[in-house]
Amino acid sequence: MTFRIPFNKAYIAGPELEYAAHVLKNLSTSGDGVYSKRCQSLLERTFHAKKVLLTTSCTSALEMAVMLCDLKPGDEVILPSFTFVSSANAFVRQGIQPRFVDIRPDTKNIDESLIEEAITDKTRAIMPVHYAGVACEMDSIKRIAKTYQLRIIEDAAQGANARYKGSYLGTIGDLGAYSFHETKNYSCGEGGALLINDERLIDRSEIIREKGTDRSRFSRGEVDKYTWIDVGSSFLPSDILAALLFAQLEALDEINTRRKAIYDYYLRELAPLADEGLIELPIIPSECETNFHMFYVLVKDLAERVGLLEHLKSKKILAVSHYVPLHNSPMGRALGCNGKSLPVTEDVSERLLRLPFYVDLTHSDLQLVRDEIFSFFGHH
Ligand SMILES: *Cc1c(COP(=O)(O)O)cnc(C)c1O
Repeated sequence: MTFRIPFNKAYIAGPELEYAAHVLKNLSTSGDGVYSKRCQSLLERTFHAKKVLLTTSCTSALEMAVMLCDLKPGDEVILPSFTFVSSANAFVRQGIQPRFVDIRPDTKNIDESLIEEAITDKTRAIMPVHYAGVACEMDSIKRIAKTYQLRIIEDAAQGANARYKGSYLGTIGDLGAYSFHETKNYSCGEGGALLINDERLIDRSEIIREKGTDRSRFSRGEVDKYTWIDVGSSFLPSDILAALLFAQLEALDEINTRRKAIYDYYLRELAPLADEGLIELPIIPSECETNFHMFYVLVKDLAERVGLLEHLKSKKILAVSHYVPLHNSPMGRALGCNGKSLPVTEDVSERLLRLPFYVDLTHSDLQLVRDEIFSFFGHH
């Protein structure tokens, strides 16, 4: 089925093809080339990050982060169940047991007031996931991590260019991870970045990313040959993808401004339905500056969500739901994570609907989405 208004569309900032052509012309297409370095230093400069390494995805950045924290099979991590599978997979593939915690009804982020009761003598890390580019309550999470000596790995897949009390998401914990997947604000198709905020982990992060070798040091002329010195894998993207990403990162402000206009339109135009109690709209605490990653509404119940989704689909508009809570998923059950119910997670996952959101959405597209939502609720 083709949609008149799809859920997502990749955005082309302008110079993507030109930059990719530079890479091809120089016949230097592997990782850590000119454009990878440009992306990394732009991200470090703009977000005040100590060290940024491009990766093939946010998934691989999260995997690297877990490897860097030296967690062992049998250790435990605390994270929300209302998240994408990659948040949990990064730990589970290393034999680390997830402990899922419920979310806050306002931000849909991990409920910081429930973290302490989930801590056991095996807990080693907390993974806050900044849902929709709105920050978790990081001061409280940092305080808990300090008390219990836990690592903080931020899943900031949706959070590039968003802030908490002035600090950019991804730069607040020990490590942070961004996604540059097609569906995220800044994208190169498939890509990501690892932010290393604990300086003691920087050297090892370069080694793990380069197949467990000191090839990064060799490339800088610091050693005269490179060799196998640690575990690792291949986590670096081709410079062709970095060239596409650099074009997007140069347009950071423009993309943010245009996404804000879409967000503001939905928020303003749907307010009357919220005033009548028909839907709930996103809530952003004053200490959080969002990057306008997504716009969602919450309807009355699952049946109403199915109805609204189908109504929009019949008008060739694609809205999507997520997440199937991880604690109740087949893998979550196999890991024994479904013992306790997480009421807010279960409720939100049945009622949340994400509306079409991409930079090139026109005013008339937005009007159509608005009008069809109103008509579903019997309004004009
Ligand atoms: C998109 C996303 C990921 C995965 O990002 P990839 O770059 O596709 O690996 C992980 N966590 C969250 C919360 C995401 O939204």
